[in-house]
Amino acid sequence: MKEEINPYQPPLTDPIAFLPPGQSQLHRSGNVLIIPRGSEKDMPTTLCIKCGEPSVKIVRKTFAWYSPWVYLALLVNIIVFAILAAVIGKKMIIPCGLCERHARRRFTGILLCTLGLLGGIGALIGGIATEEPMIGGAGMVLLLAAIIVGITLTSLLRPVRIDELRGQFKGLGDLFLSQFPTQTL
Ligand SMILES: [Zn+2]
Repeated sequence: MKEEINPYQPPLTDPIAFLPPGQSQLHRSGNVLIIPRGSEKDMPTTLCIKCGEPSVKIVRKTFAWYSPWVYLALLVNIIVFAILAAVIGKKMIIPCGLCERHARRRFTGILLCTLGLLGGIGALIGGIATEEPMIGGAGMVLLLAAIIVGITLTSLLRPVRIDELRGQFKGLGDLFLSQFPTQTL
């Protein structure tokens, strides 16, 4: 029996999946880049995600996103949060191209963050051992600074939402984003 096809019926699945093969399914909505699952490989890596200059380095990074209510678990217990986040968290691995300037910036960020964390922990332990609150306090400040520097200098993409169908990311430069077609969510 021949199956009848109604050309007027709305697509049964995600409409993005109906784009012609070979055409990148990545698109943007404002300053958000939308990457359908399975299209991670289509992410252009020849240009820097931050400034659009030619890239010299590709970082394959796993991005995770948790439904906002998972953070409520933090009120209960950090271990409950960690378990929930691991079970319900949605992940995507995205290759990110970086130009020389942004690759160096990221390297500096990782270095400063590592040194700051080590120095901070050292000062905290030193402060406790010597019972000097000033040293302990300095350690706390150093730890906080290391985290802020780490986040500011090393961030690649910022996941707005990741689900079963696609990931939505912010934190990309305008020039890099301008190569993608605009589509409303
Ligand atoms: Zn760059």
